[in-house]
Amino acid sequence: MLRSPILWKLFATYVALGAVCLVGAGYATNRILVDSARREVEHGLIERARALAPTLERDVIGDSPDLEARVRDLARTIGDRITVIRADGTVIAESDRDLFEVGNHSNRPEFIAAMRGTPDTAMRHSATVGRDLLYAAVPIGAAIPPLAVLRLALPLEIVSSNAAHIRDVLLWAGSLGLLAAVVLGFVVARRLTRPLAEMTEVARRYTVGDLASRVRASSRDEIGELGRALDLMGEELERKIQTVERDREETRALLSAMIEGVIAVDGDERIILVNAAAREIFPLGGTPPEGRSLTDAIRNEPVLRAVTATLRERRSHAFEVTLLDGSGRVLEAQATPIGGARGGCVVVFHDISRLRRLEDVRRDFVANVSHELRTPLTSVMGYVETLLAGGMVDGETSRTFLRKIASNAERLHALITDLLSLSRLESQAEPYRLAPVRVNAVVEKSLGSFRDRIAAKSMTLEVLGERDDVLALADEGGLRQVVDNLLDNAIKYTPDGGRITVEIGGDERNVTLAVKDTGVGIPAPDLPRIFERFYRVDRARSRELGGTGLGLAIVKHVVQALHGTIEVASEPGRGSRFVVTLPRASGASLPSNLPATQP
Ligand code: ADP
Repeated sequence: MLRSPILWKLFATYVALGAVCLVGAGYATNRILVDSARREVEHGLIERARALAPTLERDVIGDSPDLEARVRDLARTIGDRITVIRADGTVIAESDRDLFEVGNHSNRPEFIAAMRGTPDTAMRHSATVGRDLLYAAVPIGAAIPPLAVLRLALPLEIVSSNAAHIRDVLLWAGSLGLLAAVVLGFVVARRLTRPLAEMTEVARRYTVGDLASRVRASSRDEIGELGRALDLMGEELERKIQTVERDREETRALLSAMIEGVIAVDGDERIILVNAAAREIFPLGGTPPEGRSLTDAIRNEPVLRAVTATLRERRSHAFEVTLLDGSGRVLEAQATPIGGARGGCVVVFHDISRLRRLEDVRRDFVANVSHELRTPLTSVMGYVETLLAGGMVDGETSRTFLRKIASNAERLHALITDLLSLSRLESQAEPYRLAPVRVNAVVEKSLGSFRDRIAAKSMTLEVLGERDDVLALADEGGLRQVVDNLLDNAIKYTPDGGRITVEIGGDERNVTLAVKDTGVGIPAPDLPRIFERFYRVDRARSRELGGTGLGLAIVKHVVQALHGTIEVASEPGRGSRFVVTLPRASGASLPSNLPATQP
């Protein structure tokens, strides 16, 4: 505060103004007082001369020889030097003998005035006494011109000493006045500049982000107004910044919630923003990417090329990026200009890897389906052609051919049925309406349809676990399809004399259904793939056994649609175990029309 230049400027102005006023006033007062003192002395001298003149009139008229002595007496009494000058200018009496001037006085101005009847004064340097003297001359007698003139003389020092005294007093008063001006000037300047200093401090705090500071000025003058305006500005600024911050938070939350990667750059290709999804696509290291050059942060040619082109041409560019990080991910991207002519651009990345994979799967599926359908169809056509070309001559051969045709037609039928099942499952988001289903009943029904095949292969069948009603939240038709496929595979891939075990169990929340066989088993590398469509461990064997390669794919789809899971454990040569887990239904919701458990 004390270093405030404006304080010192105001203070210096006050002091200078005070000093100028004091000097001016002092000078004028000095002049007035000195002039009046001199006039008083002059007036006194004339008055004294006027009083003396009549007392000398007789001596002058009579040309008395005592004139000289009288003059000296009077001079001693009044203390002034007295000179009597005749009308012709000759000095006829002089109180101070040593100064007796013989010369003619007729040219002295005070003498000339007195000779005209007007008492007058004059100031002159006296060569006789070597000092400045004040003279006052009055006519002696009433006649004009008078007979003689009486002149009194007074050393001028008396006047000067009066003046010096006045000057001293004024100097003292001036000095005190100046001191008062200095003190008052400082106090007033400080009072005026303190609110300004406070405002400067508040404004400085605003610049460093402390927007809660307030001046709280109480004065009603312009400075108070300025303080209140500054407070209002602070409040407004605080409110605006809060709004901007909130908007920014919302945008940030929005961007980080997006599954699309977003990168924004400015006109110089410096990164403004990278959202979480984009960070996951392009690892940017530990340092915050904001402010870094895009070329340094992302070493991906297509991205850099598209950004440069977008900034240069100010139009959107759509492009595709394949990541070279080993993941093989494919991204569809679009760079769009933002801001004005010198603005930047925003690039949005959309991961289309899954889409691409699905396209590949679909393509493979179509190829597989065509191939699977073509094989039995080609056989059918071959047999039919052979028969038409004369093969029907031999009845036994014809029968063999017809059986082959029938078996291939059956295969085609099985394939198409499975494909339709799959397509139905895939085309509906919720293909089943879930309700409590008696798992034991479904298993019993399914086993009933396989009993002949089991008996034909001399297999042992065992049903273990909870024999009572176990309720799963499922769909009866779907569950039947699952059990049928698992039992069909167990029978197909287990040699004659093997054992099949069906086990029903679970806990409070889930129901488990396990189908176990002592068959050929599945090698470990094939295990993760057996649920894929058309995947078969041994293609020839599957085909020979009438398999379509779609059974387990259908099982997996159905189980997923029933909100369950399926797991498999297998050991080649020893057998396999498929376990289906489904949510358990609460007994209270058991409908009365459920199929009864078979004994
Ligand atoms: P498929 O019609 O060929 O049986 P699936 O989809 O039902 O087709 O089964 C796919 C493949 O998984 C089968 O070809 C077979 O190699 C293998 N597999 C399925 N179940 C068993 C099992 N119980 N024992 C051995 N291998 C099995």
